[in-house]
Amino acid sequence: MELRKFRKKSPWILHYNAGSCNGCDIEILACLAPKYDIERFGMINTGNPKQSDILLITGPVTKRSRERIVELYAQMPEPKVVVCCGSCASTGGVFRGMYNIEGGVDQYIPVDVYVAGCACRPEQIIDGVVVALGILEEKNKEIEKSIKLAKAPVIEESQVNRREIAGTIF
Ligand code: SF4
Repeated sequence: MELRKFRKKSPWILHYNAGSCNGCDIEILACLAPKYDIERFGMINTGNPKQSDILLITGPVTKRSRERIVELYAQMPEPKVVVCCGSCASTGGVFRGMYNIEGGVDQYIPVDVYVAGCACRPEQIIDGVVVALGILEEKNKEIEKSIKLAKAPVIEESQVNRREIAGTIF
């Protein structure tokens, strides 16, 4: 419960450039600069997938980056959310069909939020992260629910309650 509260208040973000022209990456950096300063909302841009809640990806998937994307995604702990920043990450964008381009990120890992634009604006990126926080919260609730269900004892009708029988005998 506590962890859920803190995660929502201070999500840790991992940014990965899959093969972008750097346009979207500059907009992500603008989110960190004094004008937008997302750190004041508790969002931290971390370089460690094992400590991240949200994966921000820019650029189309290339033949060289596809394995890295899958690896980074696998290293992130559950619950996790993936946000595609810009049309290249979403579909391949202007690079689609090129000899070294595989397409959008959702061909390799599940994507939760698509941020449109070429390049996407900092306001859109922040909006995308806010939507991602709602999805993260929902995923967290699902995990907590399944943990509770796993802990709850299952008593089937056909099961014999030996304690009850023992109580009636003695
Ligand atoms: S969406 Fe536009 S700005 Fe962003 S990586 Fe692609 S070409 Fe560059």
